[in-house]
Amino acid sequence: MSGERLMFVGGEWTEARDGARMPVFEPATGTTLTSVPAGGAADVDRAVTAARHCFDENRWSGEVPPRRRAAVLNRMAEGIRARAGELARLEVRDSGKPLSNALAEVEEAAFIFEYYAGWVTKLAGEVTPVGPEAINMIVHEPVGVCGLIVPWNFPLLMAAQKVAPALAAGCTAVLKPAEDTPLSALELAAVAAAAGLPAGALNVVTGTGPGAGAPLVEHPGIDKISFTGSREVGAMVAAGAGAALKRVTLELGGKSPNVLFADASFDEAVAGTCRGVFDNQGEVCSAGTRVLIQRDVFDAALAAITERASAIRLGDGLDPLTTMGPLVSARQRDRVNRYIEIGEREGARVVYAGTPPIGDRLAGGYFVPPVVFHAPSQRLRIAQEEIFGPVMTVLPFDDAEEAIRLANDTAFGLGAAVWTNDVRQGLRVAKAVRAGVVWLNDTQAAPTEGIWGGFKASGIGRELGRQGLEAYLEPKQIYINLT
Ligand code: NAD
Repeated sequence: MSGERLMFVGGEWTEARDGARMPVFEPATGTTLTSVPAGGAADVDRAVTAARHCFDENRWSGEVPPRRRAAVLNRMAEGIRARAGELARLEVRDSGKPLSNALAEVEEAAFIFEYYAGWVTKLAGEVTPVGPEAINMIVHEPVGVCGLIVPWNFPLLMAAQKVAPALAAGCTAVLKPAEDTPLSALELAAVAAAAGLPAGALNVVTGTGPGAGAPLVEHPGIDKISFTGSREVGAMVAAGAGAALKRVTLELGGKSPNVLFADASFDEAVAGTCRGVFDNQGEVCSAGTRVLIQRDVFDAALAAITERASAIRLGDGLDPLTTMGPLVSARQRDRVNRYIEIGEREGARVVYAGTPPIGDRLAGGYFVPPVVFHAPSQRLRIAQEEIFGPVMTVLPFDDAEEAIRLANDTAFGLGAAVWTNDVRQGLRVAKAVRAGVVWLNDTQAAPTEGIWGGFKASGIGRELGRQGLEAYLEPKQIYINLT
């Protein structure tokens, strides 16, 4: 890939202040794709200062007429759509995912901007009844300058999920993409500039977590941090932001249950179960990796899962025949392989293990073929810890009570899928599972018009939908004495 990239601060493309750069690798081949600036505290300071000025001078704030803000967001949606193919291919080369996934994500990112553009002109306050002697109004104001930190599994989509509602609310922002996948965030900055977003309203600082993420969390000019990433880093971010009483939203990891009842539509349930674990190489926070299967259909389901897993074709995400790409980095590949070894040592039985792709060009790629484990107990580390790769752990259960108990036996609470044709049973499990998102006879659907977020260690707060916008607003009460 030609042309080394710059980052975007105060409306200008720039190197890091100290000139440091970091390489960006192509996961399918393990070769260097390009490089980006390795931003540090001085760059974060420049970006936060630019965002602060833009907000405080009302160039992008609650004072900017809503219809003008909406028009810019709509132009950003158009800008993304106009370059959809190019953006999707860039995302594939940067992150490894299959092109069909990337195309769908780019379209959803465009829709997210359109969706929040719609809210800008419709978000109204309230007047609450307090008697004849006063009028009590509640209005919504932007939180201010936001630090937006995103992971590498859905780079553009996660960025859109934060940038669009933040800008819609009238906030300004500093976006810090993951060090493994910074490229589409830089393109988003270009789209924003072309759409007429004022300089400083959106800044993109590339860099590592400790180098650029931590200074962003600590910066006194930041009013709110919205973070998506691992539970461990999320806890550090929450502690840092909390100490300074900054607002914070956290979207963290998961170990989601997938409950398959004997009365479910078998083929559909098995297909969904596999999709819920293997889609996007298993690099999905809500992946249904704890597969619980009712004992009556356990053997049949294991056989059908094995058949489906063996049909997965690993390869370069740009190859139209590929259904599973490489993992994002050598580090992530090694981490997932370590978990596979742990599972074997813990006494889980390997029911299925796939084979890597063939061909010299992909020999250095970060591929991990799918693995299905039959776990003797849910206490195993592979059944409790987030692996973030194509690794499924299967356990049998006897009845709904046991399924609910097993489903809830986790520190996490992001998603849960339930496959059954018994409405009462499905709803009973849906109500009893402690998770932020429950799917009945489906999996992984995350409509922008809905909400997204977790119970327990899976996070704090919600994204998407109206709640996703409210996360960037401060309610203010104005009490007017009429006497
Ligand atoms: P990560 O926590 O390592 O990194 C996430 C982001 O935080 C990156 O941009 C990274 O540079 C930054 N970061 C790292 N250390 C930091 C620090 N000390 N201070 C500030 N920022 C820092 O996570 P990851 O490996 O990039 O992503 C995978 C994780 O993200 C998984 O746990 C996954 O479940 C989670 N995830 C959650 C959701 C959700 O919606 N709940 C969505 C996608 C991914």
